[in-house]
Amino acid sequence: MKYLITGAAGFIGINFLEFMVKTHINDKFVVIDKLTYAANIDHLNELLSENKNITFYKEDITKSKAIEKIFEVEKPNIVLNFAAETHVDRSISKSSKFVKTNVLGTAVLLEVSKKYLIEKYIQISTDEVYGSLNKDKLDFKKEFYPDDSLNPTNPYSATKASADLLVISYFKTYKLPINIIRMTNNFGPYQNKEKMIPKIILNALQKQKIPVYGDGTNKRDWLYVKDSAKAINLILENGQNGKIYHISTHNLITNIELIAQIMDKLGIKDNLIQFVKDRPAHDYAYSLNTDDIEKLGFISKSDFDKNIEETIEFYKKNAKRI
Ligand code: NAD
Repeated sequence: MKYLITGAAGFIGINFLEFMVKTHINDKFVVIDKLTYAANIDHLNELLSENKNITFYKEDITKSKAIEKIFEVEKPNIVLNFAAETHVDRSISKSSKFVKTNVLGTAVLLEVSKKYLIEKYIQISTDEVYGSLNKDKLDFKKEFYPDDSLNPTNPYSATKASADLLVISYFKTYKLPINIIRMTNNFGPYQNKEKMIPKIILNALQKQKIPVYGDGTNKRDWLYVKDSAKAINLILENGQNGKIYHISTHNLITNIELIAQIMDKLGIKDNLIQFVKDRPAHDYAYSLNTDDIEKLGFISKSDFDKNIEETIEFYKKNAKRI
């Protein structure tokens, strides 16, 4: 089996690639990544030197001719698209790259996957496409279901929702065998330091202020990236064509609680929180129903305490590299 993985130098992609090369030793992996600021070039090079079954192409998924040439040469069976511009704040400052990579890039991959009769196309997506749960509804444990309507609130989530709609259209129109995977916020090793958990840990270690939007009561549902890798593989192997799957391990906590837990683990008593002007259209919370992935055998629970400790250790050791 030959897997083509885009964006595999990024945070979730590199953790997934690492999981796959360890667990699928007889398979082959083709990686396409543009190597933007978010890529983990050193770790990708480590994986390339340790695993001869990975072939790397530094390429942009929006370049249709170059992408088609890679498909022609490599003839992959499976395509997984992790490549994206992913930082909400950057999308609010300027959205054009997000539209190009997240929407046009997905369109290029779908078209080529159709032409080369790909056996499974997996689109990696996000809980943010549903928009926000409001405070009242959350009290009733409201969660989003895969057939809920999409209601994105910022340019990042709007481009991810647009890409999802395109992917669904390729299933309905051309019977391209697709799955869309919508996940909650991931955390773990190799995430760019501009994202929340690495920023909390790295700022705290340097006794620098930790900026918190609004009053810090926004909630996020934290999913360990190594759990995501296992769940994605489960969907890859058992997912029903055309279906949207959710991944979550149901660790919904406020930003303030998250910071308090990390400070506690680090043994830092100083109050480093600095409240800053809220993000425009800042979603209050997300929560995903996970019935479908549980039917595939995934246990939607995880030891947050242990996983956050492992994550803290990683950033302590790799502070200079990230
Ligand atoms: P990331 O920003 O860490 O990595 C993205 C990778 O894509 C980088 O290696 C980058 O170089 C590459 N890339 C960007 N533009 C490209 C292009 N035009 N062509 C080829 N490669 C390109 O992202 P991440 O956090 O690993 O997210 C991966 C996917 O998972 C994204 O689709 C994102 O929307 C989704 N997602 C992320 C989270 C999360 O918490 N991080 C949660 C849910 C869904």
